[in-house]
Amino acid sequence: MRSLQDLARLADELDVDLHEAVLASDSEATGVMPEEIFNIIFSRLQDMRRSVEEARKNTNPCRLVRGDAGALIREYADRGGMCGGFLLRASAIAIEVASYNASMGRIVAAPTAGSCGILPGMLFSWEGSFGQDVDDSDRKLTEALIVAGAVGEVIANRATLAGAEGGCQAECGAAAAMGSAALVYLMGGDCDAVSNAVALTLKSVLGLVCDPVGGLVESPCIKRNGLLVAVGALAADMALAGVTSLIPADEVIDAMGQIGRSIPPSLRETSKGGLAVTPTAKTLLKERGKKKGQ
Ligand code: SF4
Repeated sequence: MRSLQDLARLADELDVDLHEAVLASDSEATGVMPEEIFNIIFSRLQDMRRSVEEARKNTNPCRLVRGDAGALIREYADRGGMCGGFLLRASAIAIEVASYNASMGRIVAAPTAGSCGILPGMLFSWEGSFGQDVDDSDRKLTEALIVAGAVGEVIANRATLAGAEGGCQAECGAAAAMGSAALVYLMGGDCDAVSNAVALTLKSVLGLVCDPVGGLVESPCIKRNGLLVAVGALAADMALAGVTSLIPADEVIDAMGQIGRSIPPSLRETSKGGLAVTPTAKTLLKERGKKKGQ
């Protein structure tokens, strides 16, 4: 899959919905039957659901950051909060799963381990808030994951999904764009709305650098998972409201690839710039080094 425009055209030609167009295209490319591909993605969704449940109970510590941000957000949400239950729950799930990854838990890298909380946060918070009336919510979420996967595939083919190549716009940014497409699909939006949500999300993360403290996928990665669910969700709502992107999604993805190649190596996962070289980061790493040496 090289473009979202081609995908929309295929859905139109076959007169099927977006997830069926993705299955038809993937089946033709791989020779694997559409039902078999569906079952594989269904199984990934179950892995994702398991990771969300395990992450919530996880007590293994991260190495640098406190691991309680997800629980704090849940407690705060119970008391109210400004952003509403859907967003706060999505953020809590995203942070818990990303923390679980950092403490060596098993997650689904969608699209990468560093950005592994964003899609589960958006999908399962949607299920909690809007999925009660859906007959077969696992089936619906699998369809949405198939659509999200197609967006990830287009980003991989036209730009990159690697922080080392394109900065964090390519990891957490791509995950938020995939999640925004999934939410539009779940809410009954059409192909144009899906493309606009992807474009709107990516435009707001262009140039986002990768500067993990100590080379660990903890800071800023974990909380960035919890924050970018909001960008993807709002982009989905904007697209569903009829807001369009001046620059089409495929061209935004091309721009993302070009910007990624322009980001200096110090800000592409080498931990030689940005947050990774702040005085606090250096002090924390020095203290950690001393503890390890004791
Ligand atoms: S900051 Fe870098 S390591 Fe962390 S999630 Fe983003 S791309 Fe991955």
